Amino acid sequence: MEKIKNRVCKVFIDNSYKSFNIALEKTNINDVYDAVLIITDQNVYNSQLNKFVASIKAKTIYEYIIPHGEESKSLEVYEEIMKYCIKINLSRKSVIIALGGGVVGDLVGFVASTYMRGIDVIQVPTTLLAQVDSSIGGKTGINLGNLKNIIGTFYQPKFTYTNVESLKTLPYKEFLGGMAEVIKYGFIYDYEFLNYLVENSENILDRDTECLFYIVEKCASIKAHIVEQDENEGGLRKILNFGHTFGHGVEKLCGISHGEAVSIGMHMAFKLSLKEEFIEEKYYNKFVEVCKLYDLPLTFEGIDEEKVFEVMKNDKKNSFSKINLVLPVGLGRVEIMNNIKETLIIDIIKRCK
Ligand code: NAD
Ligand code: ZN
Repeated sequence: MEKIKNRVCKVFIDNSYKSFNIALEKTNINDVYDAVLIITDQNVYNSQLNKFVASIKAKTIYEYIIPHGEESKSLEVYEEIMKYCIKINLSRKSVIIALGGGVVGDLVGFVASTYMRGIDVIQVPTTLLAQVDSSIGGKTGINLGNLKNIIGTFYQPKFTYTNVESLKTLPYKEFLGGMAEVIKYGFIYDYEFLNYLVENSENILDRDTECLFYIVEKCASIKAHIVEQDENEGGLRKILNFGHTFGHGVEKLCGISHGEAVSIGMHMAFKLSLKEEFIEEKYYNKFVEVCKLYDLPLTFEGIDEEKVFEVMKNDKKNSFSKINLVLPVGLGRVEIMNNIKETLIIDIIKRCK
């Protein structure tokens, strides 16, 4: 079992659920939880729950299953879970475990942060995206109408426990989507890591355990390190939005997945940096090579670039109507810029059609 630990984040990584109990004992030394509530979605229930439950030693274990998909990040599902917590008398000495992808993690984190003014939560991520990103850092949230994550909190889990083997039941498309985030870490923080992703692409796509372990550990460490330095997203943490601001528009308008949108968004950022001569052409070519190896798209179709730009502009992550762009400026390095002309941004979006 590998452990990443800093002032803010604690992450255990293993290739089974067996050491979950050890992680629990290590972090719950003076106290023993009176009850454990596991919340998961229907797909994860089918593929992971039995294996996970077999690894827990607890007096009382409750299970609650929500429908899978983004729609579950709603006030209605939140209310149903709250009512269930009250019905089973969940107390401040209990713990809630989020077993699933980012949807379960965000929703359950929010439930835990608000039930009785906050009870302990443990994240057990089962998608690649959740293992390398959403389960670390303490952002929780639900949606209201079409406003994503508009209601939420910063609330750190007691710890994150990752079993990389759980990725073997993940649908291929979800795995590839997670790879867009994995690649992102290389370009924002660790150029050497990209060579690993190029050299081992076949084994990674075959979901070889050793490769999964390596990439999850690498990305989780980078994320934990960034979060430690900027827990409430005042500065550095914004570099994690690389590909996301540009990608936001195409994700909303083109009906593509989050990972695909991030890949296209990173491409737009690369094109802009190339045009402004922040980077050399061979670095741009490296980006294209990595994305192609993982079957990630670089272009979109069918939508007007002005419309894509409008959605980008309305992203809640922009400050005072200035668009914050995360742009590559060197090997494994990005910078946040908010002075790029709108006409140039629109032109770049057009070049990615
Ligand atoms: P998801 O949770 O919807 O999971 C994707 C699909 O895979 C679902 O159908 C799920 O049931 C299924 N699944 C999950 N694990 C499985 C497994 N091991 N085997 C088989 N099927 C499995 O999607 P996601 O991509 O993990 O998360 C997306 C969410 O994460 C979004 O709501 C986004 O806003 C949020 N997010 C949050 C943060 C954060 O910092 N809190 C960061 C990034 C994204
Ligand atoms: Zn993302």
